Amino acid sequence: MSILRLAIPSPLRTLFDYLPPSDFTPAQTAALRPGVRVIVPFGRRQIVGYLVTLAQTSTVDHKKLRNVIEILDEEPLISAVMLQVCVWAMSYYQHPPGEVMIAAFAPPLRAGKLHEPLGEPGWALTTHGKGLPDGALKRSPKQALALKILQEKGSVVSAFLSQNDISSGVMRTLREKGLVVAQMQKSVSRTPTTGPALSLNEHQLPAVSSITAALGSFSCHLLEGVTGSGKTEVYLHLVAEALKRGQQVLILVPEIGLTPQTYGRFEQRFDANIVCLHSGMTDLQRYRAWEAARDGSAHLILGTRSAVFAPTQKLGLIIVDEEHDNSYKQQDGFRYSARDIAVKRGQLEGCPVLLGSATPSIESIYNASQQRYQHHILPVRAAGSTMPALLAVDVRKQQLTAGLSAALIEAAEKTLTDGQQVLLFLNRRGFAPTLQCHDCGWIAQCNNCDARLTVHRRRHKLRCHHCAASLQLPQRCPSCHSSALLTAGLGTEQTEEFLRQRFPSHTIYRVDSDSMTGRDAMQNLSQELLKGEPCILLGTQMLTKGHHFPSVSLVGVIDVDSALFSSDFRGEERMAQMLTQVGGRAGRAEFPGQVILQTHYPDHPALLSMLHTSYAKHARDILKQRVNLGLPPIGQMLVIRTDCSDMNTGEQFLHNLRKQVQVHIPPGTTLIGPLPSPMQRRAGKFRSQMMVMASSRKDAHTAAAIIVAAAQRLPTRQQMKWSIDVDPQDTF
Ligand code: ADP
Ligand code: ZN
Ligand code: ZN
Repeated sequence: MSILRLAIPSPLRTLFDYLPPSDFTPAQTAALRPGVRVIVPFGRRQIVGYLVTLAQTSTVDHKKLRNVIEILDEEPLISAVMLQVCVWAMSYYQHPPGEVMIAAFAPPLRAGKLHEPLGEPGWALTTHGKGLPDGALKRSPKQALALKILQEKGSVVSAFLSQNDISSGVMRTLREKGLVVAQMQKSVSRTPTTGPALSLNEHQLPAVSSITAALGSFSCHLLEGVTGSGKTEVYLHLVAEALKRGQQVLILVPEIGLTPQTYGRFEQRFDANIVCLHSGMTDLQRYRAWEAARDGSAHLILGTRSAVFAPTQKLGLIIVDEEHDNSYKQQDGFRYSARDIAVKRGQLEGCPVLLGSATPSIESIYNASQQRYQHHILPVRAAGSTMPALLAVDVRKQQLTAGLSAALIEAAEKTLTDGQQVLLFLNRRGFAPTLQCHDCGWIAQCNNCDARLTVHRRRHKLRCHHCAASLQLPQRCPSCHSSALLTAGLGTEQTEEFLRQRFPSHTIYRVDSDSMTGRDAMQNLSQELLKGEPCILLGTQMLTKGHHFPSVSLVGVIDVDSALFSSDFRGEERMAQMLTQVGGRAGRAEFPGQVILQTHYPDHPALLSMLHTSYAKHARDILKQRVNLGLPPIGQMLVIRTDCSDMNTGEQFLHNLRKQVQVHIPPGTTLIGPLPSPMQRRAGKFRSQMMVMASSRKDAHTAAAIIVAAAQRLPTRQQMKWSIDVDPQDTF
């Protein structure tokens, strides 16, 4: 008796047992391969499921088992290794199997679309076209050329025609004449070639040699190189090596905004098929890229977080750029870390994984110190420029204008006069974070969240940055009708206004999620800045992520203090990464850069570390503290969260859960909470959480399984949303 054990998109953390299609013979059933998609009845609906394994027996009463309706794929579309990666993730993240499997399939396939090889758009001759005599089109040389090419080849891809300078307009004319028809063409896999490369310096060379030698089996490498040290050049050399061996390379970058820039550098070096995969693409574009990765015609697959699930034929290397970046961790739904999955995938695929960063995560530094990762260090900038000088400006008792001290304004002025660019960093968008009544003390609060509303003056709005709430900016206090409404605190809009008045002849670019809408916004800005005109860039953390601004020579951090005090144990790590990354934007080209940090706490130990030691040293101090406190990466953490429309149900659920599991979880594992989440109410829901601290990965995993099993039995689970977060990034 064969049972099909399926992953089915459902909130339940379990596989579902089904019988084979009713007309299947035992031999047909036995030939089914894990990874194929199926259609099954589920409740009253029919949905797509994924075969994970075949079993001989089921714990479900046989009479209750239903038949699979249809098998969608003859062969699994994903490799056995990808299935293994998914099965590992289901268990490690304790996430519903169906939702994990979805990540490995392109959107149309999740919806049950039949798989067909995609091919490329192209053209073929009609009979009429085949018989057309030479010279018949001599009045239009382009049409004649197109016809000649087609008469030689029979059919071609459109890309080939455009390479020969034949436009789609020419082809449409030929179609109207009945000579050609549009026809999908089988993609031709071409052999990639590599263009001229820089010769590697003494630091890059050993890294490239040892990782090259490691191609062909699993190993994990941490490339720790200061900003501008030539990490990307190392990637390019390694990609060339992998391509030489006929392998594909998967490259992850932290955000969509970086894909065009990274794509550009790879495209310049390689004549190869490079595909992108990210959420800014349409379903069809993603399907095409997914399929090209799957059938092996894509040599390089470049993408954001979810691209770690891209299918491949012959994966030779995985690169995770800016591996410390938070955006590799999905913060809702399937809460996976793409970096950690990349490492697991490399292990299962048998290929090296390269994690690169100027500011590696404490986890990766720890793994390198334990010799789990090979450590490669690039200590200096490759193009010869020096690291920027850091300077703290004590702003206590100083007059600030729109948040800026006289020293910073003066430095900006000088930089512009010298013909260079200025980058000012302020991690708060909007005009001001608070609107207050001067007469009665009323403060604009969000109705749905425990949070204040931010003033967006340009659009005349009060907006909540935690939910979608957006209100008209009031003229009078809603409580006492006074018109004395004051803004407090500082946002990018306000500083922008001041800068425009102060530097009227220079362009001020505001870079935050309010101003940078549209997919190409960041790309367009980068292009503009490359012209090198003196200007000021003012923005939030959007500016910190790996972009190259070669003409920036002054970086000003307007409010370091907001980063100094964090309730999360990762606060100091994040601050050091963020400031090092912003600072790293300065002086990348021929002129030395300067970084000015404005603070009210010039003696804060974390700030002193920033000023007087390198990130590398600072990070190792942070690691020591973590070791002493048993925090990650030494101890392991889980967070169980509830999200519920009334105050008590969620917390009660966690209380019951705690009671049920505390005697069963491994000794030495502690439960903390339940406690209200720091922002207890968000988007109208009350949030509570319980934290689990374990002393090893194994214990954390055992505890997670016990907690999830218990939670799925608690009757009140249906009155709320609950989730488990393994290796959470935000614990506050
Ligand atoms: P990172 O990725 O570490 O920020 P990049 O690879 O972008 O560094 O290199 C920074 C700059 O140094 C680039 O302009 C790059 O062309 C240059 N560069 C990198 N490696 C070399 C090298 N071996 N010789 C000369 N210039 C180099
Ligand atoms: Zn008032
Ligand atoms: Zn809100």
